[in-house]
Amino acid sequence: MERVYNFSPGPSMLAMPVLERAQKELLCFGGTGASVMEMSHRSKMYLEIFEEANALLRKLMSIPDDYALLFPQGGATQQFSAAPLNLMTGSGAADYVDSGNFAHLAAAEAKRYGTVNVVGSSREDTYTYVPALDRAAFDPKADYFHITTNNTIYGTRYTALPETGDVPLVADMSSNILSEPYDVRAFGVIYAGAQKNIGPAGLCVLIVRRDLLGKANALCPKLLDWKVLADNDSMYNTPNTFAIYMAKLGFEWLLNLGGVAAMEKINIEKADILYNFLDQSKLFKGTAQKAFRSRMNVTFVTGDEAKDDAFVKQAAKAGLINLKGHRSVGGMRASIYNAMPAEGVTALVNVMKKFELENA
Ligand code: PMP
Repeated sequence: MERVYNFSPGPSMLAMPVLERAQKELLCFGGTGASVMEMSHRSKMYLEIFEEANALLRKLMSIPDDYALLFPQGGATQQFSAAPLNLMTGSGAADYVDSGNFAHLAAAEAKRYGTVNVVGSSREDTYTYVPALDRAAFDPKADYFHITTNNTIYGTRYTALPETGDVPLVADMSSNILSEPYDVRAFGVIYAGAQKNIGPAGLCVLIVRRDLLGKANALCPKLLDWKVLADNDSMYNTPNTFAIYMAKLGFEWLLNLGGVAAMEKINIEKADILYNFLDQSKLFKGTAQKAFRSRMNVTFVTGDEAKDDAFVKQAAKAGLINLKGHRSVGGMRASIYNAMPAEGVTALVNVMKKFELENA
């Protein structure tokens, strides 16, 4: 069977060289005669894979030594649930920007433990932009300030980070980590579910400035306590060994491609192919405000639900799958993460052009 172009928001496409390498090594890794899935997480062979994954991601993101790099199980929801448990223990208050569904859920979770100050929201406008922020609304005593750098469902991204002074910036980077360079030093904490730009689901990448470790609420489960994870090199319990191995292959692939800056260039080109078409189309229309357009999730509509459905079906027949928008917003969403080749985006535009000719 031919492989399709998969525009899923996550779990999403993995790069072919990564899948091929995993396939080659699936039964016998190196000289071990065993699959990575069958190795003890404490074995010498596995620890080499683990250390390599660690070193590669540190290199790709230029993570300074005073930041812990952790690979917890689970996903981004688990980590935005862990954030207040780990950090909301000083003033007991935190600032949150309500820029999308996951940002909203993160704030709701934090409200269970303390005071949440929502410093900006675009909820009333279906999250079609990232809200403008007024520094006067920021709480200088907040334990942290939470943002979602890319809003997966609505297709928007931050173009500039809020200036939070001494208040640590905590970022959910699930849907754009490794797609563009970020200065890790601008953040106190970065977390990202793996299933978009890193590897298979069930793994999270967590980067924490070390001075923020050790502040957890006494009721925080040990497994969610970032200090416990850091003190045990992410192996307080069994980590997601295979996903970390897959992530390592992905990091190697990205490094071979030239790293995050090179990837950003490719991502801008890919997103431009789609947005340039949308901007002159007589049928399709982008839904996110131009200034905040995501390079990872491109959301668009025809304005007619029946046509949206027909388009999604026609695209699937052409081998372009998972283009249906999130159930809460409808329309279409093309998720074009790092592993989506430019050819996939061009193929999508060609199908859109054909559909437009037939349906405009
Ligand atoms: N944050 C963002 C920005 C996401 O896109 C997602 C998943 N699509 C989540 C959080 C939730 O991630 P998980 O399913 O890994 O908990």
